[in-house]
Order: sequence, then C-alpha cells, then structure tokens
Amino acid sequence: MATELQDGERPEHRGYVAAVDQGTTSTRCILFDHSGRLVAIAQREHRQHYPRPGWVEHDAAEIWRNVARLVPQAMAQVDAEPGDVVAIGIANQRETVVAWDRHTGVPVGHAVVWQDTRTADLVDALAADGGTHRFAEACGLPLTTYFAAPRMRWLLDEVPGLRRRAEAGDVLFGTIDSWLVWNLTGGPDGGTHVTDVTNASRTMLMDLRTLDYSPQMLEEFGIPRACLPEIRSSSEVYGTARTVVPGARIGAALGDQQAALFGQTCFSPGEAKCTYGTGGFLLMNTGTEITRSSHGLLTTVAHRIGDEPPAYALEGSIAVTGSLVQWLRDNLGLISTAPEIETLARTVPDNGGCYFVPAFSGLFAPHWRSEARGLIVGLTSFVTKGHIARAALEATAWQTREVVEAMDADSGLRLASLRVDGGMTSNNLLMQTVADVLDAPVVRPMVSETVSLGAAYAAGLAVGFWPDTQALRRRWHRAAQWDPTMDPATRASGWKDWQQAVQRTFGWIRH
Ligand code: ADP
Repeated sequence: MATELQDGERPEHRGYVAAVDQGTTSTRCILFDHSGRLVAIAQREHRQHYPRPGWVEHDAAEIWRNVARLVPQAMAQVDAEPGDVVAIGIANQRETVVAWDRHTGVPVGHAVVWQDTRTADLVDALAADGGTHRFAEACGLPLTTYFAAPRMRWLLDEVPGLRRRAEAGDVLFGTIDSWLVWNLTGGPDGGTHVTDVTNASRTMLMDLRTLDYSPQMLEEFGIPRACLPEIRSSSEVYGTARTVVPGARIGAALGDQQAALFGQTCFSPGEAKCTYGTGGFLLMNTGTEITRSSHGLLTTVAHRIGDEPPAYALEGSIAVTGSLVQWLRDNLGLISTAPEIETLARTVPDNGGCYFVPAFSGLFAPHWRSEARGLIVGLTSFVTKGHIARAALEATAWQTREVVEAMDADSGLRLASLRVDGGMTSNNLLMQTVADVLDAPVVRPMVSETVSLGAAYAAGLAVGFWPDTQALRRRWHRAAQWDPTMDPATRASGWKDWQQAVQRTFGWIRH
C-alpha cells in the first residue's frame, strides 16, 4: 500500500528515505520521513572472522545479503512500496577493504576489517624511509595499519594472480560503500563503481587538495588505478537501484563517523560531535579550508554536497571509552550492567584522588602511543569501588578534553558546545562530567541514530526531498543539555592530575 497523505502534507513530502548503516558488528536499515522522524528499523549482525591473531575479516557477500534482506524488512513495517522510497543513503564502517570479481560479483576472499593489523610490517617498511608522517601533506593521515591502502597492497601482494587481474580491471577494489552501491546498481550487470570523498579520505590514496587519487600515493602503495572506484561527492545521485528497491535513487555515501557529524547537522566551522560507544570519535567541522594537525589529530573530509566545495574535519579517535565500562563489568565483575556504573559512581562525591587511564592497547589521539598500557593511580586505603567507577567515567571525560584541546590548538577555533550521541550518552553523570571538564555545554539530540540520520539527510538532499542544510538544521531538536558547573580551580587541578597519570602510562612496553 502506498503511503497516504496526512492532513497538511504536501505530495512532494510523501515517502521515506532509507538509510543503510553498515557497521562493524551489524547492519541496520532505518526509514525516515520528511520530518526526520524514524518510522521503521531492521537490524542484523554478521559474523566476525578471526583467522589469526590480529586478523579481523568479514564476509562481504554475507553483508550484501543482509542489506538485501533488511531494506524490504524495514519497508514492510510501514507497508512501503519501492515507489515510496525517494532515496537510499549509505553510511558504512570505514577503512575496511573488499575486492571482488567484476564479471561474477564474487568477493576475492574475505573483506579485511579496519581493526586488522596484518599490515604492520608493510607499514613499518614504508615509514622506515621518511617517517610516519611522510604522506600527511597529501592525504592528511599518518602511516598506520588503520587505513585502507596498506590493506589493498597486502591483498595485491599475497593473493596469487590478483595484481594482474586488478591491472586488467577484472577485479574491483573498494570500501564497503563501493561494494554496496555496485551491487545495488546491478552488480556484474553494469554496476556503478564509485566511492565518496569521506570514504576515499580514509584510504591514504586521495589527495585532500584535489579530491582525486594522488599519482604519488598510488605509486608509493603500488595500487593500479584501474581497480579503484571513481571518487564522487557524499551527496549526489550515483545511480538507480536495479534490485532490493528497484527504481530508488542512491543519493549518498559517507563513512559512519562523518555521517554522524552530518546527522548532528554540524555544517559550520567549529561545530563538533562526539560519538560515545565502545570507543569515542570526536569530529569537528573546520570549513572549506584544509586544517593540518600538529597536535595528533587526523585531517579528513567531513562531506561534500553535490558540486559545492567540500567541508573538511579534524578527527580525534579515543580507543577505550564504553569498553572500559564493559571491562569493569566482564573482567572485574564490579557491576552487572553498564548503566550500573552510574549508580556505583554516585555512592561517592568525587574520585577520592584516583585516576584510571585505560591505555589497554596503547593510546590513540592525541598521543598515538602504542607502547603505553593502562593504570589506576592515586590509590590509598580511602579509595572504594565507587571511586574506581567514578575514575572510569572521568577517564572518558578527560580523554575528550585531550582531543578538544588538540582541536582548539589546530583549528584556532574554540569549541562552543559539543553534540553527543552513542550508547554512553544515557549516563547523566558522565555527560555532566564531560561538560564540567570541557567547560562547555554538552547537548544530545532527539534522534539518537545520528549515523543513519546523516546518511538519510545527505541522500534526501541529493534528490531534493529536503531543499538545503538549513532545512535539516531546523529538524535538529535538543533532547537534553548539560551545562558546566565545576569551579575553575577543581577543573584545573583535575586536569593536571590526569595529565600526570597519562605520562606514567608511556613506555610501559619495552622493545
Ligand atoms: P557501539 O556502537 O560502539 O557498539 P553503542 O553506541 O551501542 O556502541 O554503546 C555501547 C557502549 O556504551 C558499551 O561499551 C557500553 O559499555 C557503554 N554503555 C552503555 N550504557 C552505558 C551507561 N549507562 N553508562 C556507561 N556506559 C554505557
């Protein structure tokens, strides 16, 4: 049944945008209506493959099957027909690489996931000549196992015959967005091989200045241009779906964290969001000029709408935020559910002098210390489990402050307020603590599914379902706000203690 017009609704406002959020552990399809309201949701997990220590793989064929199943499931919840879906937007796990046969559509082995560290030797060898930052001028990124190009190189080197097939254009490479768009638009039967600027900005192969592949980077990594997707805007029509939702236009692709920034409507320079899940991802829109980082952040593309100039972003990733709460639950048994951490932390008025630096696998932004390891310091016989719980929550807040300080220093902009989303934002004590240590308001929107919302917004813009970013801004509604209440002296002394604690984690692993 086609959707019926409600009172006062205009015909051009009828229908839904379908967002596909292809994440690391699961895939979701969410339908949004013209008011930006979530009307249907379907979700499914996929298998994680760990063939060797440090290796993490996904079956791209399984992921595609899930997408093909979830979109109709979400549509069925509101009796939508293909004609009711005005556009499809994709948000995806970033930096994961898949290669597939152009003629059969069959993936070449498993996709190599962003967490996979098999390229460590390759990365070290490339960094030996010129250092970790030798390509930062072109691509904005340091040489680490995190990004896509080393994975592509690894596949080309290790899979027999793959290089020859890639050079001939018989095998295609891409991140998950490319894989999904190619399959939706016909697969072996004329599928479109594209990626967007945000996903391309995580490969190390794109020049941030030209938004096209850098000949130098292709040469350094030894990757043939013929097997790579064309780089397009984040919000533009890439093609029409030939399957799943035949006739629907595919209007957007964005890396998941950039999608969240878009869904939070951070369209102006200085606007920032932090997603608090297992880890934390803080991105700040820095405008149309590239802002280089000299304080340990990544320079990346925030989005590009149609032919408009791109917006760039600075990004600070924190490895451990919500996973510390899981660790207290699963490894120490201090709590039995994640929300209990708040109850436990509220049994004491402060941290009792205790600090907890969760450098479980080193520290990410802004330190990038792989040899650091976690510690709890300031212990006295006064300290209780309540203080440990509080210190664990404060760890997320202080790590946020470290990234924000680096952003302010790099961008010359002062963070006016922080928009937040993700599972940890249901913790009021934590959100208050973040506001306190940043000395800035923290705000949470009504629609917490910001990744999907961002993909939907970008796709809806591409097809004219929404006219412009101003219209999207008007759809952002605040659900909660936390204002700083901490006195400046307490903030300053806590910050000093935290920095001291962090210093002590450095150099723990001796090579
Ligand atoms: P992801 O998308 O990374 O899987 P989610 O956004 O679903 O993460 O958030 C889940 C994380 O948030 C878990 O690590 C969990 O420990 C943490 N978490 C969930 N609820 C709370 C809470 N009330 N207080 C603190 N941490 C929480």
